[in-house]
Amino acid sequence: MIKKLIRSILGKGKKDAPGASGKSGAATEPDVLGPKQHGIDPALVSPNAVRVTQTLQEAGFKAFIVGGAVRDLLLSVKPKDFDVATNATPEQVKQLFRRAFIIGRRFQIVHVMFGQELIEVTTFRGASAESAPKDEHGRVLRDNTFGEQHEDAVRRDFTINAMYYDPATQTVLDYHGGIADIRAKKLRIIGEPEARYREDPVRMLRVVRFAAKLKFTIDPASSAPIRVMAPLIDNVPAARVFDEMLKLLMSGHALACLQQLRKEGLHHGLLPLLDVVLEQPLGEKFVTLALANTDARVKQGKPVSPGFLFASLLWHQVLEKWRAYQAAGEYPIPALHLAADDVLDAQTEKLALQRKIASDMRDIWAMQPRFERRVGKAPYKLLEHLRLRAGYDFLQLRCESGELDAELGEWWDAFMNGNGAEREELIARKPADASSGPAPKKRKRRGGRNRTKSGGAATDQGGDDAAPAGAEATSAPEQSVPEPSGEAPAASGEAPKRRRRRRSPAAGSDVAPAGDGE
Ligand code: ATP
Ligand code: MG
Repeated sequence: MIKKLIRSILGKGKKDAPGASGKSGAATEPDVLGPKQHGIDPALVSPNAVRVTQTLQEAGFKAFIVGGAVRDLLLSVKPKDFDVATNATPEQVKQLFRRAFIIGRRFQIVHVMFGQELIEVTTFRGASAESAPKDEHGRVLRDNTFGEQHEDAVRRDFTINAMYYDPATQTVLDYHGGIADIRAKKLRIIGEPEARYREDPVRMLRVVRFAAKLKFTIDPASSAPIRVMAPLIDNVPAARVFDEMLKLLMSGHALACLQQLRKEGLHHGLLPLLDVVLEQPLGEKFVTLALANTDARVKQGKPVSPGFLFASLLWHQVLEKWRAYQAAGEYPIPALHLAADDVLDAQTEKLALQRKIASDMRDIWAMQPRFERRVGKAPYKLLEHLRLRAGYDFLQLRCESGELDAELGEWWDAFMNGNGAEREELIARKPADASSGPAPKKRKRRGGRNRTKSGGAATDQGGDDAAPAGAEATSAPEQSVPEPSGEAPAASGEAPKRRRRRRSPAAGSDVAPAGDGE
């Protein structure tokens, strides 16, 4: 009886909100497409996902690959992960697999593990969002009732994410005109856009991410409310916004995503880190370079460190505050720490930056003035730093963006790649003589060792091995220190050949920018 009522209500919606194929936010009967119509290449399907659907089906349940994986398969892209939807309850799923774990409080799901691969199994969701508990802005707080497959489909976000693939029969079930929208390269939210964004404002970030990543256009009706509804994201728990931001930034299309965020009017207020940064020419250049680097790494399958990413996004805010503290009379090093505290505090509220990420960011920032101390033992000490790679990559971004002289980056490149003698020579060389040798190549600015272009880092102060420039500049360090690779310390007078690194710590490594393999 209740089901009938729901169906009749849902059936009405069908007329009100047609999708590309005339299907609605509430279709109960899917279009069924065979292999010739959908063209999915079974070779792109994870054998473990097939194992999961097969096991569930053999136990008498319905089971399908669902969501982003089906969308990607239809686009002939190898999905990065596989989700399975079923009418089995989480308990029933768990019993069928050896390594299966029920997780989640808001809505229980089962993680089925096969070695490193994780298949996420969800039970069909049911009940209309109307009856779910909500906050005062209409955001759904709990949504944990199970239901029919068509109900599950209507609860999904976009038409292209609401298709089900059965590997056994090789059929695709399409409830909301997803196939037509995939062909038209259109992102269309299921149902009434305003209501769906109100239920879950994160969908606004998701639509931006998919548009940028897939190079799809957003259907005007799905895009129009975003500008107005953007402030609703403020009410979403910070940890969720952070997760979504991370997905966006690590999608391999971070730059395109940020451009799309701006286009949709989502960067204001929503992400304070972008408000200021993207409006300053130097800041924009820096962020653009950092994201282009990140995108390239993701596309090459290299790991990316969230700490490095957020350190880059927030650097120009740190710079601004760093300058302000110095102008107010602070010494450069404490001023930098104060600036970092301010920026991290402000962002933690909004983005729930995890402690590990925040500490990586702080390390990367705090290392920056140390790159400007090129006397005595200071550069050797810096080579020992655990995050040298990240700090060095960051320094290079600063040089590339025009914030610092290229000469500083070149000097460090030469120093990191140099053998013992070459390193000593680099240190012995007064900055003013820098142009006389092969490296560093460019002439140093007057007074450049102690100042950034931004007026920031007078760096001989406050450090543990600070020394008057003239005093140590001409004397070789008493002893060289271990290199970051963990090689044994060697005397500074050692033969250059033995000291020569086969591989630069700064180049050619597959380690994440933060050097911690994240
Ligand atoms: P990708 O994994 O490539 O980022 P995806 O579409 O698989 O994209 P997931 O976050 O893995 O995204 O979600 C899996 C599926 O769950 C989605 O395809 C969609 O059907 C559904 N889904 C996820 N988030 C939401 C949401 N906020 N509202 C409604 N449905 C959602
Ligand atoms: Mg997914």
